[in-house]
Amino acid sequence: MKSITVQQPQQMVIENRPLPEPAPEEVRVKVKLAGICGSDSHIFHGHNPFAKYPRVIGHEFFGVIDAVGEGVTTSRIGERVSVDPVISCGHCYPCSVGKPNVCAALVVLGVHRDGGFSEYAVVPAKNAHRIPDEVPDESAVMVEPFTIAANVTAQVQPREEDIALIFGAGPMGLTTLQALKGVYGVKRVIVADRIAERLEMAKHCGADHIVDNGKAPLSAWFERAQIKPTLIIDAACHPSILQEAIALASPAARIVIMGFSSEPSQVVQQGITGKELSIFSSRLNANKFPVVIKWLQEKRIAPEKLITHRFPYQQVGEAMTVFEKDQKSCCKVLLKFSE
Ligand SMILES: [Zn+2]
Ligand SMILES: [Zn+2]
Repeated sequence: MKSITVQQPQQMVIENRPLPEPAPEEVRVKVKLAGICGSDSHIFHGHNPFAKYPRVIGHEFFGVIDAVGEGVTTSRIGERVSVDPVISCGHCYPCSVGKPNVCAALVVLGVHRDGGFSEYAVVPAKNAHRIPDEVPDESAVMVEPFTIAANVTAQVQPREEDIALIFGAGPMGLTTLQALKGVYGVKRVIVADRIAERLEMAKHCGADHIVDNGKAPLSAWFERAQIKPTLIIDAACHPSILQEAIALASPAARIVIMGFSSEPSQVVQQGITGKELSIFSSRLNANKFPVVIKWLQEKRIAPEKLITHRFPYQQVGEAMTVFEKDQKSCCKVLLKFSE
């Protein structure tokens, strides 16, 4: 089979690998579609501290089960599945409090273990979630990116009356926007970004207001509107945003950060305690695949609005370049591995 492997930072190849056999409690997935994510690009360039090389990258993928290991019913062969990349031990402290995404022995497919940019991938059977027939392939491959939004919203429990502010109209910001509007019915969602084309995409995904914060500070916009955000999501992930969010927030607001920068963020504690803000962080997803599959069945989210490019996997180099360089027109890039 062919697999897309990062041999070492900056060196990505399509190589021949032996067809893997599923171990006990595993299934083998014949991959149909996979999505490129920022973390794939980080591993490619050597910017992910957790990645070990060589590595088959890719943690957003969808396909069909074509073989099962011992202990898995053969009736699963032929099942259409999306794969949760989070593999956890099930018994450590974080697992015991419902946070397998930060398991003490966390393994992420495509990061710590070979992932989905491959014609076939073996994965734990319980990570392969059945996709209902009515959900199309291109929506099924988008389950993982939407679990990021499901993980954020499960923590902060958005309310219709919230005034939500999202920093960043990239894939994480736009999936969160769609969840806030389509699932939680939040009446006012403001999206800030510095790229006009991305803001247009946010509008298309249901943003009530879009603000170019490269042109003028957000504080001016909120002063003029005479409102304060009660829920702030940093999907732009720059270390400076936390303090800006603290300053903008309404008293009693919730702030969610998702950044992975190792640079310090300077924050003023008085700004947090003075308003008794709640600050959450969100990483990957904690058992959110069933949640998002239900959202898709109920048509509460529209993943097709985020897909801007499709490439056969043989053109992964070109696909990665578009993803990294073309921030204006590019949101989600899909790779096709089989029909
Ligand atoms: Zn991702
Ligand atoms: Zn664990």
